[in-house]
Amino acid sequence: MMHSSVFSKIIHREIYANILYQDELVTAFCDISPKAPIHILIVPNVVIPTINHVTIEHEAILGRMLTTAAKIAKQEGIAEDGYRLILNCNRHAGQEIYHVHMHLLGGCALGPIISLY
Ligand code: AMP
Repeated sequence: MMHSSVFSKIIHREIYANILYQDELVTAFCDISPKAPIHILIVPNVVIPTINHVTIEHEAILGRMLTTAAKIAKQEGIAEDGYRLILNCNRHAGQEIYHVHMHLLGGCALGPIISLY
């Protein structure tokens, strides 16, 4: 079967990623180009291109993304020290893959969120 995003291909095991967790709603796998010692992406199993496309029907998926992040943070041993969750939307945020994904970053002090003005 052909899938429309690189993340769909990962979800359906058409290309390799280090998958840490998968259930009927979401999949979590290691980012290919980590920006912190721990950098995991948590994605819906269905393609939602951007956060602008989410509807009330996606609330269960979005909630599962957060509970999955908390579960993985605990598994990875970073829950107590803390971590950052990021969702990029469209070009001003630098979104590269048009399949909603939440970045889970941790494993070191991440510093303040950068102010650009
Ligand atoms: P964003 O800029 O929010 O769209 O982030 C996209 C993220 O996807 C980047 O951190 C990339 O390193 C990551 N990425 C792209 N291709 C892959 C892949 N095949 N496996 C894992 N992560 C990927």
